[in-house]
Amino acid sequence: MTQFFEPAERLKQIPPYLFKEIDAKKAEVKARGVDIIDLGVGDPDLPTPAFIVEKMQAAVADPGTHRYPAYSGMKGFREAVARWYQKRFGVELDPETEVITLIGSKEGIAHLPLGINNPEDINLMTSPGYPVYQMGSLFAGAYSHMVPLLRENAFLPDFHDIDPLTARDAKAFFFNYPNNPTAAVADKEFFTRMVDFCREYQIIAVHDAAYTELAYDGYNPPSFLEVPGAREVGIEFHSLSKTYNMTGWRLGMAVGNKDVLAALGKIKSNIDSGAFDAIQLAGIAALDSDQSCVRENCAILQERRDILVGGLKKLGYDVEFPRATFYVWLAVPPGMTSMGFTTHLLEKAGIVTIPGMGLGAPGEGYVRLALTVPKERMQEALTRLEKVG
Ligand SMILES: *Cc1c(COP(=O)(O)O)cnc(C)c1O
Repeated sequence: MTQFFEPAERLKQIPPYLFKEIDAKKAEVKARGVDIIDLGVGDPDLPTPAFIVEKMQAAVADPGTHRYPAYSGMKGFREAVARWYQKRFGVELDPETEVITLIGSKEGIAHLPLGINNPEDINLMTSPGYPVYQMGSLFAGAYSHMVPLLRENAFLPDFHDIDPLTARDAKAFFFNYPNNPTAAVADKEFFTRMVDFCREYQIIAVHDAAYTELAYDGYNPPSFLEVPGAREVGIEFHSLSKTYNMTGWRLGMAVGNKDVLAALGKIKSNIDSGAFDAIQLAGIAALDSDQSCVRENCAILQERRDILVGGLKKLGYDVEFPRATFYVWLAVPPGMTSMGFTTHLLEKAGIVTIPGMGLGAPGEGYVRLALTVPKERMQEALTRLEKVG
């Protein structure tokens, strides 16, 4: 039967879904009764800390939270974001103009191109990467130019490798450190080079900082806004999702350049009506807390990381201990593709991973594992890997 309507052209431009085969195989393996260990999902298995849940419970019972929220976010939440940026990064923000509340950072990332791009614009973005940079650009009619993240460059973009003609035409540059999926980190020296590059070519720098709080061995990932000139050329997206295990709550923020934020805010005020005030009140409690819940969370993730990566190394795999994020970027054995290795792990060991090429062509040669299962399951995964060889 033919469909009674033709979906919009832009939907036809969405790249083909590459995980169909893997989804089918996963269902087939599951149907065989195999106990699947899912290292594929980038979604914390641990609950939101109790004090945040309790704050929400009280806030939701207060009729004062039941009306339309303010478009750019509750003043109290924007002030809490400014306090947190000051305490965590030493970055001063004006909560009136340099902070905006988001319904999760994905929402802001997806909507930003509607506020900054004209059809046929070019946006630069690192690859492999979070697919939303590309999808948001596509929906705004802009082209995506992928900047490869390669191991020989420590998974940082090589600015010399970007064609100056492309750079001259580019409107924005999406980048993300600590990085999903490579787990690479960036220092302030790199951020300074990004500011220089964006200033030279008049490009809006768009940093996705979702993972700055998930770091190990005492490492403190910087904010892009810590470097001089950053807020003149760009903005930073952040989120409570990974920091406080709040992915389901939908709460994030964008900070930095006020003109870019105003453009995003204008789009948002015509599309959504802001994040639920009760959620923002819970967010204030999270940001204003002593952050011991974050340290406890990282300690759990670090133990899992040590078990998984230590075990993989012992088995001879080519892999590094990530300094941040809850991802492990594992090089596939020589002679295999990322898709082939993913299928192998699923069929032979009941382990789900994400093939690197599914997150962008330069991700070929790697699979992404997530530290989002308990340590006992990590051990079990290693035992199975040892058996299948
Ligand atoms: C998880 C994630 C986000 C955050 O998404 P929210 O919409 O805030 O839940 C943003 N960027 C990257 C790279 C992520 O992995």
